[in-house]
Amino acid sequence: MPDATAPLARLAEVARHPRGYIEHWRSAHPGRPVVGVLSMNFPREIAHAAGTLPVVVQDDQQPVTEGRSLLAEFYCGYTRNLADQAATGRLDCYDALFLADHCIQLIGAADVVRAVLPETPVFFGMLISSMSDTWAPGKIAEMMGEFRDEFASFTGHLVTDEALASSIRAHNRDRQLIRRLFDERSSGSAAFTPRQLQDIVAASMVMDPAEHHALLSEAVVAAQEAPRDDRVRVHLSAHLCHAPKRELLDLIEDSGAIVVDDDLFHGRRYVSTDVDETGDPIDAIARWYAQRNITIPCPTRVQHDADWDAYLVDAVRASGAEAVIHLLPKFCEPHMLYYPELRKGLDVAGIPQLLLETEHEGLPAESFRTRIEALVERARRKRPVSL
Ligand code: SF4
Repeated sequence: MPDATAPLARLAEVARHPRGYIEHWRSAHPGRPVVGVLSMNFPREIAHAAGTLPVVVQDDQQPVTEGRSLLAEFYCGYTRNLADQAATGRLDCYDALFLADHCIQLIGAADVVRAVLPETPVFFGMLISSMSDTWAPGKIAEMMGEFRDEFASFTGHLVTDEALASSIRAHNRDRQLIRRLFDERSSGSAAFTPRQLQDIVAASMVMDPAEHHALLSEAVVAAQEAPRDDRVRVHLSAHLCHAPKRELLDLIEDSGAIVVDDDLFHGRRYVSTDVDETGDPIDAIARWYAQRNITIPCPTRVQHDADWDAYLVDAVRASGAEAVIHLLPKFCEPHMLYYPELRKGLDVAGIPQLLLETEHEGLPAESFRTRIEALVERARRKRPVSL
């Protein structure tokens, strides 16, 4: 009987300690660079096709120390953590950093990285956020082409269409397997806990996609489906570009709720959309960037025909979730600005909801527990009375 313990432990290890995987990859691929990529919109496929190992630089959940003097307290925890990683040498495992803009606070963090690490090449690509304009597709494709050119000049060789197509296929295959786990969870046959799913996604942001796919396949074959219980089904929303604390995920499920769906970055959002495997690969990656804002809208993009609140109501109805928990990282402006719309949309649809503002340091466990239990109680009261 296959056992999922070992592959899951390896995925968790990579998710929590990317540096170990990076060292292992470097020794297996001498001379090939490792690049840090940030964050939610960066097309990892282009970096992979250039022969590098692209690693999404994640919040490593270490307390912010030296970074405190580099970015103001009103920056979100993720960007302050990035500044701290730069200031304390925790980014020294990357040969270069490639950023795709997603919000003003990330621009601040990029400036810090440039100032603190003058020897490290940093490329910052401005991906347009105004998605409804007629010129948007052309501008997006132009920037994706610039990413390809930058990688060619960084590595010293061209990034061919064939290499890109192969990287696209490898990433799609891995995304599809991960997405299958999220779909199974929504349909009620989950075999993995929220913590395990988060580790699976986080590891995919670090590992070579083929290697991640192979390891995850081992875990999937061996996984046992967990029996459905009576807990209140909840949808977790937001945490747009870094993972919520694992202890918070455990706390939610220990407080009478069971997570059945999410639109977290370290969740369904990251794997929501595949890149078209036909036609020009750069155009296909440009369409991927545009399409993922329709699959799961993001408040950092402006698009007239994509609404996060409408998406959320539809997602809740599709998964049968009974409540929504908004996870809002403190000082995340895009989420704060959009939150009233979300609240209004769910209120109109009669869906119970709870806002939890998360902090980079610390977790007010007992206060959160009480509030989650109150939400669970409200959702239970809405259940039809059985006679
Ligand atoms: S989207 Fe929010 S969490 Fe992400 S970098 Fe911007 S402010 Fe921080």
